Amino acid sequence: MALVVQKYGGTSVGDAERIKNVARRVGERRAQGDRIVVVVSAMSGVTDGLITLAKQIMSAPPAREMDMLLATGEQTAIALTAMALQAIGVPAVSLTGAQAGIVTDGVHTKAKIKNITPKETHRLLDAGNVVIVAGFQGQTSAGQITTLGRGGSDLTAIALAAALHADLCQIYTDVDGVYTADPRIVPGARKLPEISYDEMLELAGSGAKVMQLRSVEIAKKFGVVFEVRSSLNDNAGTLVKEETRSMEEIVVRGVALDRNQAKVTLVGVPDQPGVAARVFKALAGAAISVDMIVQNISHGPGMPLTDLSFTLDKADLAKALSAIDRLKADVGFQEIATDERIGKLSLVGVGMRTHSGVAAKMFETLATAGINIEMISTSEIKISVLVELSKGEQALRAVHDAFLG
Ligand code: ADP
Ligand code: ASP
Ligand code: MG
Repeated sequence: MALVVQKYGGTSVGDAERIKNVARRVGERRAQGDRIVVVVSAMSGVTDGLITLAKQIMSAPPAREMDMLLATGEQTAIALTAMALQAIGVPAVSLTGAQAGIVTDGVHTKAKIKNITPKETHRLLDAGNVVIVAGFQGQTSAGQITTLGRGGSDLTAIALAAALHADLCQIYTDVDGVYTADPRIVPGARKLPEISYDEMLELAGSGAKVMQLRSVEIAKKFGVVFEVRSSLNDNAGTLVKEETRSMEEIVVRGVALDRNQAKVTLVGVPDQPGVAARVFKALAGAAISVDMIVQNISHGPGMPLTDLSFTLDKADLAKALSAIDRLKADVGFQEIATDERIGKLSLVGVGMRTHSGVAAKMFETLATAGINIEMISTSEIKISVLVELSKGEQALRAVHDAFLG
């Protein structure tokens, strides 16, 4: 008898019929004798709809109240899923994140899971129930409701699989697995039978929203092997696991486009020790993660000045600007410029460690397509470039065809 954690995303529970479909699938698995914990997301569009509503009330809603609001999306879905199971004769109980013992830190809207006490889940499983847990939410030790960042139901599932020592963790979504590129943008994208944690991490961090970044970090940390597959058919999915030697033979595993980044440039920053430290300390203090960073060479006579550019999530832009604005007198930069019309295109593969010429081929492909590169950053297994947003999809298809077509 295996213990299985299954996660169903928003589209998979998008309407009453889809919820019944989930119940049927869970019921079939249970009939094979397995014990099942189901994590569900809010029904598709619900989280976005709640965010829109909040913004109609005020432009920058307090994070605590956002969490109170957003957590209702998953709470609706767990109750409906438990009902759908009971309707077909399967005993099922729904639990909020707090009831499932998911304790987080207090960083509202992007809380980190501190620990999970799955006592209640075990008790309900032992009594023969399917346990339905609300994804994306937890509670601080002081009893405040928190959420885990967009896509956070993936994290709930992986963290629960680790805490429960599950035999199997399955992420059910609306595509058949992890592809070489988003199959909705690149028609020629191919489903990958397997992918390493590191490659999945880089793709998730580069805008491939099929898995939430933090969930993959936790899977890697705790060695949770998981499968990404469709809730709408029985096709084999993609296995995400530790790297094996044969994986290195493939130079490029996949490409991704992140449309949710914004670029900030501090113009005319004094070229002195400690300036960058102050800027990025202020951003870190506001819980903002920065992605690419480029500092230009000094220019101007007299006191050397430089331009400092970096990218961050669009959603953090307003907060970042106010954090930096407070530094203006102290740091003494001239002005701040922002650009939200950018896309980050990334090429990922563990084989890049042992193969050369990947960057040259990528840049050549973009040049041939007439696409300008604004910023470049690399890691051992990734090359990212910033391009004009309107050319992002064209760039993605060109690079995919050159390496994976
Ligand atoms: P869920 O609601 O199930 O969590 P998401 O919408 O968060 O689903 O993630 C699934 C979507 O991720 C797919 O519909 C697809 O458009 C997108 N996606 C982006 N990159 C990839 C990729 N490399 N492979 C598969 N899907 C991808
Ligand atoms: N409902 C949340 C979101 O839309 C969490 C999730 O779907 O994983 O981001
Ligand atoms: Mg998702």
